[in-house]
Amino acid sequence: MIKPGKIIGIIGNGQLGRMSAIEAKKMGYTVYVYGPGTETPAGQVSDIEVEGDYDDIDKLKQFAHGCDVLTFEFENIPAISLEAIRAVTPIHPDPFVLEISQNRLGEKNWFEANGFPTTPFEEVKSASEIGSVVKKWKSKAVVKTLTLGYDGKGQAKVDLESDFQAVWKQIGVKSAIIEKWVEFDHEISVIVARNESGEIVTYPVFENIHRNHILDTTIFPARMEKDIKRKAREMAKTMAEKIKLIGLLTIEMFLTADGQLLINEIAPRPHNSGHITFDVCATSQFQQHIRAICGLPLGNTEPYSPGIMVNILGDSWNGGEPNWKYLLSMDFVNLHLYGKMDPKPGRKMGHVVKTNPGTDFSDFDRIRQILKIPPVDL
Ligand code: AMP
Repeated sequence: MIKPGKIIGIIGNGQLGRMSAIEAKKMGYTVYVYGPGTETPAGQVSDIEVEGDYDDIDKLKQFAHGCDVLTFEFENIPAISLEAIRAVTPIHPDPFVLEISQNRLGEKNWFEANGFPTTPFEEVKSASEIGSVVKKWKSKAVVKTLTLGYDGKGQAKVDLESDFQAVWKQIGVKSAIIEKWVEFDHEISVIVARNESGEIVTYPVFENIHRNHILDTTIFPARMEKDIKRKAREMAKTMAEKIKLIGLLTIEMFLTADGQLLINEIAPRPHNSGHITFDVCATSQFQQHIRAICGLPLGNTEPYSPGIMVNILGDSWNGGEPNWKYLLSMDFVNLHLYGKMDPKPGRKMGHVVKTNPGTDFSDFDRIRQILKIPPVDL
């Protein structure tokens, strides 16, 4: 067990590291953070911020020497870097899970090989291969780069009418994945935690709404049948057991009209859809992550309030800073900002959680207006 007072090293210095560090500090840990840049979201709230690149193995080893346990919060750290430092200091979750999640093809093959339902997919290596798959499926589809794509980057929707040459040029890689387009009823996520003693907890299902491929809104409780939620949590638990997870794993799924759950992707870390746990759960996903990697007992995951979360992107600064005073004059509204200095369009700057949102979500519309976020259909 890594007792409170020991040193936790976080590789990656964004908002996920920041909120994990806040929870670790609450429990009396010392937190070191590693990544490019200084005065970063995680660095601002940590004891020591080390500036370094993710492929600088010597520097990473030096960082690892100073820590009692390591974790990571950024998706695209080269797995080879993590493999190189694990002999110095234990790292959780196991880097092989990150490796699975870093390559969409490897990830989907892994789901299939291990009996987890996922969207139909194929590897494609040319414009004509995209064309043949779309014709075979007679369905809309999405072409995605195998690596480094998130929040809709490196993706292109296609159908029978598409200019496949243009799509292939836009994707701009030698090999990509094509997935059947799922006409889902809902997108959901399940966050599961497991510690070294094999204790496992899952959070309730969160319902997610994306805009321009970026998470926009998370709703708890998710609006679907109990049985489906139970099945989704069971699936997450099975996966955590299968990979002998230590730490946190998030599983994003589509729920189809005929009640099928299809896994879209996984992330071995706290997740944007779990930010709501900071405000509605006794043990947030960030504290759960710290507990799990330190070998502490896991905390209760049942929320004590319904809630709704909206992401604040840099776009909210268009025409001037949002009116925080107006926003915070509303009841049951919590503001989280990540300490990022330069708001850019599409950049995640913070989020707002409204607990006790009621059933008509009218306050939520007002929050969106204040933040200049276009309405979504709830
Ligand atoms: P991803 O980067 O794969 O998580 O994709 C971002 C978002 O794009 C997802 O959360 C979905 O809203 C949408 N999306 C991605 N793949 C598909 C698919 N095969 N069918 C339908 N929607 C998708």
